[in-house]
Amino acid sequence: LVKGLEALKDLPCETTDHYRLPLWVNTGLMTDVVRSLERGAEGVGLYRTEVPFLLRDRFPSEEEQRSIYQEQLSAFAPHTVTMRTLDIGGDKALPYFPIEEANPFLGWRGIRVTLDHPEIFLAQIRAMIKASEGLDNLRILLPMITSVPELEAAKVLIYRAFNELLEEGHSVKLPPLGVMIEVPSAVYQARELSARVDFLSVGSNDLTQYLLAVDRNNARVADVYQAYHPAVLRALRSVVDDGHAEGVSVGICGELAGDPGAAILLMAMGYDVLSMNATNLPKVKSVIRSISLEQARALLSEVMTLPDADQIRQRVDDTLRDLG
Ligand code: PEP
Ligand code: MG
Repeated sequence: LVKGLEALKDLPCETTDHYRLPLWVNTGLMTDVVRSLERGAEGVGLYRTEVPFLLRDRFPSEEEQRSIYQEQLSAFAPHTVTMRTLDIGGDKALPYFPIEEANPFLGWRGIRVTLDHPEIFLAQIRAMIKASEGLDNLRILLPMITSVPELEAAKVLIYRAFNELLEEGHSVKLPPLGVMIEVPSAVYQARELSARVDFLSVGSNDLTQYLLAVDRNNARVADVYQAYHPAVLRALRSVVDDGHAEGVSVGICGELAGDPGAAILLMAMGYDVLSMNATNLPKVKSVIRSISLEQARALLSEVMTLPDADQIRQRVDDTLRDLG
């Protein structure tokens, strides 16, 4: 197995008809970075900044954050590292910042928290931009955006942090900015959001939860959480079409991207990059290398006509079996 992984690492992720699909990784800890580089990741599509925050007993200072972020950015340079601003609340609670609510997934989480606490947001943005000084491989990603005004408010703070750094004499560049598409309202506003950012990244974990009204962590309703639900696939396709209509790059960084069968469908929909847990990367790469874009598109057209998740999964599994 190790030998197989080693051989696959330097081979391009491309279909039999030579369509290139970049495979990126999701990271949180430095150990993820090492595993990702060993598997030939071409960039980071989601660095979950809440992970280093979770490992402490207080908010890390701007300088502590700068040092953590710089480690991630330099390990991957010159490849892109997409850093998501703090996504706490929901299922991710900081021990030193308790949030008690009846419905955490519908409550104070992600961008809602950081817009209410601009000091937390500004320190984080300043730390990210400073960390990228001289590396220029940073992209910033905003979680849980539900409306254009939320995005605009975050942009004002990002420009403020950037201008402060320039005034302080740092030679920094404004990094590309993107939003996560992970709530249904963002799916329906993908055009308006795209017009105001450089890229989109779909968070299929939350998007599935919110589209199907099913807690992503509740075992009792796990069978209702269907990643291949036709409504989910339709939403995923509409986001990529809308993003492309506005000329922005569209990626996906939910668990679905690391599912080999789903990866075929996402490639056929036109996703520009799939970002996944490093563990899944070799499997996804070998499946993409065994299929043509034409076959993938034919499979997608067929499954988009099927009425339920089980039939879709069955059809995709048959294809995977045929590919060997
Ligand atoms: C997602 O929601 O799909 C996602 C990638 O973010 P997280 O799993 O951290 O909520
Ligand atoms: Mg999410």
